[in-house]
Amino acid sequence: METRVIYGKVVAEKLKDDLKPELAMMATRGVVPGLTVVLVGQDPASKVYVRNKTRACEELGMKGRTLELPSHTTTAELLEIVHGLNDAEDVDGILVQLPLPDHIDETRILEAVDPNKDVDGFHPINVGRLLQGDFSLVSCTPMGIMEMLRHEHIDVKGREAVVVGRSNIVGKPMAVLLMHSHATVTICHSRTRDLAAVCRRADILVAAIGRPALITKEFIKPGAVIVDVGTNRVEDRARVVELFGPDSERVATVDRQGYTLVGDVHPRDPYGIASAVTPVPGGVGPLTIAQLMRNTVVACREHRFNEEPAVEPANL
Ligand code: NDP
Repeated sequence: METRVIYGKVVAEKLKDDLKPELAMMATRGVVPGLTVVLVGQDPASKVYVRNKTRACEELGMKGRTLELPSHTTTAELLEIVHGLNDAEDVDGILVQLPLPDHIDETRILEAVDPNKDVDGFHPINVGRLLQGDFSLVSCTPMGIMEMLRHEHIDVKGREAVVVGRSNIVGKPMAVLLMHSHATVTICHSRTRDLAAVCRRADILVAAIGRPALITKEFIKPGAVIVDVGTNRVEDRARVVELFGPDSERVATVDRQGYTLVGDVHPRDPYGIASAVTPVPGGVGPLTIAQLMRNTVVACREHRFNEEPAVEPANL
């Protein structure tokens, strides 16, 4: 079987293009949506993610701002900042970059964000709304994946979907979105017995595990669509040779930068078995930021124009 490779970048560009008419309409009314990202500490990976988010805002003509706070910021200080952002008229979206330093009470912070400005979709109110079928502000990665499936004309209705991973950020919202789109959903995790057998039932298999190349050919049903959310840094050269082959440019990448990014799905195994697969990098990754831009526009619509922030749910 020929395996189609789905590049998220194409879908992400389409998602962002679709926002432009609404952004232009908002501009004629003097409104520029604003996203504020709060970054506590100096984690280099977080800094890169935050920069990419604010850059994406600027590319769309939106206001992207980063509040960089020292790592010794306390929970009380951060709460005060979040309350200030909740009250700020020109802030439509608030994103507190995770992980926060250990001494900060993450739950209290996430619950302090105004649910209508919660562009990450992590607030319990938005999680509850999602469960009830209100897709206003949903976690960006799973929502982006639903958009990708729709864009690629992959109908999930009535099909078996297996999600490996049950995090609040990816696994759980992914499973709920697939369920609302009428898939029959199974959620797997570290205690699942015979994971390969459960995964082999999947017409649509979503891997959000954080374990490089855990999903091998024994896990894949012929014809399945494989969505690989995993983004794992692999530094071990021998492992990279084993995964990609000795002649792969990935080996040169490890030699050059000390690591390469590997998904949760084996990089070669799905080919010839699956009908479609998302590569790592270049698959799911770009969708997350595009969906964040969309959530910011949705939040702005509601915040400045008092309109229902209803987004057409994917695949329903
Ligand atoms: P978490 O660590 O929060 O969750 C991982 C999940 O995988 C848990 O539910 C865990 O089970 C399960 N798991 C771990 N090991 C196994 C195993 N051996 N067998 C079965 N299940 C297992 O990770 P996230 O959900 O935050 O992220 C998952 C991956 O996706 C990571 O690689 C992350 O970097 C990537 N990611 C990528 C994004 C993107 O934009 N491309 C965005 C967000 C995440 P249990 O609950 O039992 O512990």
